[in-house]
Amino acid sequence: MSEKLITIKEVPLKNNCPECYSTEGLVLTFKQKFKETQFYKSITNDVVEELACTKCDTAIYPVSWTDDIERVYDYQKKAFSPKPPSLKLKRLAWIVFIVIDMIVIVTILAIFFPEVMGLK
Ligand SMILES: [Zn+2]
Repeated sequence: MSEKLITIKEVPLKNNCPECYSTEGLVLTFKQKFKETQFYKSITNDVVEELACTKCDTAIYPVSWTDDIERVYDYQKKAFSPKPPSLKLKRLAWIVFIVIDMIVIVTILAIFFPEVMGLK
């Protein structure tokens, strides 16, 4: 199973970067977790926010956020609408379902109608 964080939205912030004090570098990124297995692909409810500065190439962790950043973050977080969680079955899952169905049907036939199956 693989899990991936996919960027859903990027918001450039006008706040001062706590590291280099530039007002043009901060970008708030919203990412959502996607899961993929052999059988399905799904979008989860997990949203991760990251703040980074593109000027000084630094990840800005909440510890060093200023009140202003905090305010903008709260606002952006409210404005952000994540993709609804979903589950998409892959072809392999359908094949497995069909095969299981067939096994069930054949078993039922063999138990209840053995003459149909040529067992009697
Ligand atoms: Zn910076």
